[in-house]
Amino acid sequence: MRTSQLYLNTLKEAPSEAELTSHKLMVRAGLIKKLGSGLYTWMPLGMRVLRKVEEIVRDEMNAAGAQELLMPTIQPAELWQETGRWALFGPQMLKIKDRHERDFCFGPTHEEVITDIARSELRSYKQLPVNMYQVQVKFRDEIRPRFGVMRAREFVMKDAYSFDADFAGLQVSYGKMYTAYSNIFTRLGLKFRAVAADTGAIGGDGSHEFQVLADAGEDILAYAPDSDFAANVELAEALAPTTPRAAPAEAMRDIDTPKQTTCEAVAELMGVGIERTVKLIALVGGEAEEFFVVLLRGDHTLNEVKLAKAVGGEFRFATEEEIRAVFNCPPGFLGPIGLDTDNISVIADRSVAVMSDFVCGANKPKFHIAGVNFGRDLPEPNAVADIRNVVSGDPSPDGKGKLELCRGIEVGHIFQLRTKYSEAMNATYVAEDGQPKFFEMGCYGIGVSRIVAAAIEQNYDERGIIFTQAMAPFALAVVAVGYHRSEAVKTAADQLYADLKAAGVDVLLDDRNERPGSMFADMELIGIPHRITIGDKGLADGLVEYVARAGGEMQKIALADAVSFAR
Ligand code: ATP
Ligand code: MG
Ligand code: MG
Ligand code: MG
Repeated sequence: MRTSQLYLNTLKEAPSEAELTSHKLMVRAGLIKKLGSGLYTWMPLGMRVLRKVEEIVRDEMNAAGAQELLMPTIQPAELWQETGRWALFGPQMLKIKDRHERDFCFGPTHEEVITDIARSELRSYKQLPVNMYQVQVKFRDEIRPRFGVMRAREFVMKDAYSFDADFAGLQVSYGKMYTAYSNIFTRLGLKFRAVAADTGAIGGDGSHEFQVLADAGEDILAYAPDSDFAANVELAEALAPTTPRAAPAEAMRDIDTPKQTTCEAVAELMGVGIERTVKLIALVGGEAEEFFVVLLRGDHTLNEVKLAKAVGGEFRFATEEEIRAVFNCPPGFLGPIGLDTDNISVIADRSVAVMSDFVCGANKPKFHIAGVNFGRDLPEPNAVADIRNVVSGDPSPDGKGKLELCRGIEVGHIFQLRTKYSEAMNATYVAEDGQPKFFEMGCYGIGVSRIVAAAIEQNYDERGIIFTQAMAPFALAVVAVGYHRSEAVKTAADQLYADLKAAGVDVLLDDRNERPGSMFADMELIGIPHRITIGDKGLADGLVEYVARAGGEMQKIALADAVSFAR
């Protein structure tokens, strides 16, 4: 490709709303263009990057024996009603009606559709195992779309679903996906960590998240450098030995001991108002303990709310499961308060986050309510899980060394669904003994479009993006200085470009009539990993200049060797 033919539109300034470097750089490099909140067009240059990521994903999925299909984005409500998720998925799901007033949604995920396919297509154990995947646009009406394509509303996901005859088979399918994901992120050149992520099946291998390590990440990970232990913080807390933690003196500055005051102080530090405080009395080991559940005004994902932890000392924020357990609610509902189960953020009818300040012992206490009409305001509470608070330096739950904390961006998530969906949708196959059995299912997601932003978060400098060869829009830029002035430069550049293309090098020839400085700046901003510069001066000696985007010395190489060098 020649820049004279490529739609390239770089910007000096990033939009003021862009907070993250990756978002700023993606807009400045002209990879993406905003249409509306959480809605982005992938411009031609960005599309090349997205396609490269997709192709690596496809390659490894195919190598792992998965088969590509494409399901509709629009899904009938009836399927979601079968699993109960029509009601439970919450406001993240975009619901739409057709001209006949029938209910549909724009798919936020595809478990229901694929299970519907499996129950009619897969009849016998002889057809199993099966793993099918698609690369497709999803829509989730995120509470707060932000950071560009990192947390968009419409985004590209690779989602795969496996069907096995039994649990042992599922574990094999799951293992293959674990390996495929590791290969994908390694080939993309990302620094990543697979972390255990399943609080539901503690100690099991029920779910792993693939996290790209980056300070800008929304997730907090706990890992033990001396062992294999790595988990997201929720799980690490659930597994950690119970250590009642005294509030650090610094965190308690200016705050009197009563816990209600702590709640208010934290809310103030977060700059949010308190909607309502509910006082509960818990019986902990026979002792009555007071604690408070606070409804915060405004939108707050759990991870954001967690940031306030730092100032809270023994103050801690409840996970969805814990709050559900306290208020005895079915998944997805918390009485008048809705739970955004997917984000594990906790929101009330008008996006009010819930945080709870409870400190209690290992035994699940019974609650007595003081001051609150629970039948009316909230369902009767019953129990609460153990509350801990993992910090760096805590012993690793596996007993091997100490925990470190770091931040990550979730780029992939694999999950053993077991028979949750096959039972709900009565999806069975005929087993070897002639009896119908439910499929053992797994689901495996990759945030294809998020990967591009995550990769940039890991690799940039003051001049712009630094792509790895695997996902760069072009592997090599040939900058022809004086292409429009010098016949020698034009001839040499055209020939080198043709030779590189013939040799299979993914090359961009910068043949614009621009100042060399702005050509270099553009090639650097868009992150092309290698650059060769052709100019009159060097050509007189038969030389061109090579420089790597990631840094290092400029090298002079013979024009005649340029193709073999680039290969
Ligand atoms: P998150 O915790 O970031 O909201 P999730 O756990 O809701 O993600 P999954 O349901 O596990 O997401 O979906 C699979 C993958 O899709 C995620 O690992 C992530 O990489 C990607 N993804 C999810 N939501 C978004 C989004 N709003 N924008 C871009 N990518 C997303
Ligand atoms: Mg997540
Ligand atoms: Mg989510
Ligand atoms: Mg996830």
